[in-house]
Amino acid sequence: MNKYDFIIVGSGISGLNFALNIANKGRVLVVTKKKIIDSSTNYAQGGIAAVLDKLDNFNKHIKDTFVAGSYHNNKKAVNFMIKKGPKLIDRLLNLGVKFSNEQNKLQLAKEGGHSMRRIAHVGDRTGHSIEKVLISNVQKNKNITIWENTFAIDLLVKNSTCYGLQILRNGEVKNLFSSAVILATGGLGQVYKHTSNPSISTGDGIAIATRAGAKTEDMEFVQFHPTVLNLPQKKRFLLSEALRGEGAVLKNYQGKRFMKKYDKREELAPRDIVSRAIFKELKKGPVYLDISHKPASRIRKRFPYITKELKKRGLDLTKQKIPISPAMHYMCGGIKVNLHGQSNIKNLYAFGEVACTGVHGANRLASNSLLEAIVFSNQIIKSVEVKKISTVPKFKKFKPKKCKCPSSKYVKSVVKKVMWDNVGIVRNVDDLKKTLEKLKKLDEKYKVQILNQTDFETRNIIQTALLITKAALKRKKSLGCHFII
Ligand SMILES: Cc1cc2nc3c(=O)[nH]c(=O)nc-3n(C[C@H](O)[C@H](O)[C@H](O)COP(=O)(O)OP(=O)(O)OC[C@H]3O[C@@H](n4cnc5c(N)ncnc54)[C@H](O)[C@@H]3O)c2cc1C
Repeated sequence: MNKYDFIIVGSGISGLNFALNIANKGRVLVVTKKKIIDSSTNYAQGGIAAVLDKLDNFNKHIKDTFVAGSYHNNKKAVNFMIKKGPKLIDRLLNLGVKFSNEQNKLQLAKEGGHSMRRIAHVGDRTGHSIEKVLISNVQKNKNITIWENTFAIDLLVKNSTCYGLQILRNGEVKNLFSSAVILATGGLGQVYKHTSNPSISTGDGIAIATRAGAKTEDMEFVQFHPTVLNLPQKKRFLLSEALRGEGAVLKNYQGKRFMKKYDKREELAPRDIVSRAIFKELKKGPVYLDISHKPASRIRKRFPYITKELKKRGLDLTKQKIPISPAMHYMCGGIKVNLHGQSNIKNLYAFGEVACTGVHGANRLASNSLLEAIVFSNQIIKSVEVKKISTVPKFKKFKPKKCKCPSSKYVKSVVKKVMWDNVGIVRNVDDLKKTLEKLKKLDEKYKVQILNQTDFETRNIIQTALLITKAALKRKKSLGCHFII
């Protein structure tokens, strides 16, 4: 029997930070479906928000978080997260993250919805730096085993107690047993046609947990990032909100700024407001992000990664306006957990984007997600005790089913399109109802036919899409990123 004290699914900031924290309490196994570095964390550009400046204070950060979240936030969780923020930045510094600084002081950026400069960053590749540092620390730890290319299929749950995890590894299904399973599987951008998320973000954790009986919350609050590069037939690429923090403006097809019409905070209004404004302007023609009025040397120094990536695509950030559109970016809801990451299933925990602590309310404040992931994955130490795994119930291994069902490629493209068209930035009840029926039929018809990751991911994409659509139908009035007409 394969036994570990803790099995963590996912190797982003929340999974790896938890692994480092818990490793002195028992044997830890981290399973991750691609390479260890493959995560949303690795792509985070802007940074991590915390109260780090003398002129700033906790109340201001708390208020900004509430305003962005339309006061739908869990007050206790917001207080908890924001007050722990500065200590967690210290932790990252101690682990080896080299945040950008000026004259021995952290250089703090500003982003939409923040009343102060409070985003600690490493140039414009903050997530990559954090991920590298966490990986190097985890790899040095003898109590942590890492299995790459290992896919979590389902939880082993009986009578609302989690005993372990069923995985797909080297083409074989295996049951692994543990004192606790921690889902740190990140987001679900791949449920939508256009997304800033990497290919790993297929909503697996949410679907897996729901099949096992875990509760979800706030699934209707899908955040669309306003400024994602929009070139026909090209993969989307995020243009960090920090660009607007440094003075980039939005322009319509006539080359005119338009945000004043929508919000007095203009380009730095919360993301839901900016995304809807762009969505409306796009009906008239292309929309652009423009920072070319700022000194070229400053742009190159502050945004080296974005400048380079745009150059590869034939665009010059220092000289021209860049075509953009909103794209699915972040799931504000997820598996319902308490402050210690505990779900309603015994021995099942969730951290990071897959979890819903309630901190984001109806719309996440920029750069609060890396903060949430690191703060909450630090807390489990207090709540989990290593127990001797004695007898465990019997669990069947997953068997694929032969059927005349549509291919996973086809099903994924149908779900992504219908979610983008009908469960996107602006929603209406009729389209939501039609979408629900379509997804239900797909869920009934679609079967995992062969033991490969894509088939499992497709099942998870359909089921996650269903959860979002059901939640969107339940909320009759617009709130935050759920906008319904
Ligand atoms: C382009 C981009 C820019 C961003 N910029 C910022 C920013 O500046 N500031 C900020 O606060 N937030 C930002 N975010 C959001 C933030 O990066 C994420 O919310 C955060 O990194 C999530 O961390 P995580 O540990 O929860 O998940 P992830 O980092 O996504 O890690 C999830 C892990 O789970 C693994 N996994 C998933 N399913 C399975 C499965 N079935 N079996 C095995 N393994 C599995 C994945 O392979 C991956 O290793 C950004 C996101 C994107 C996409």
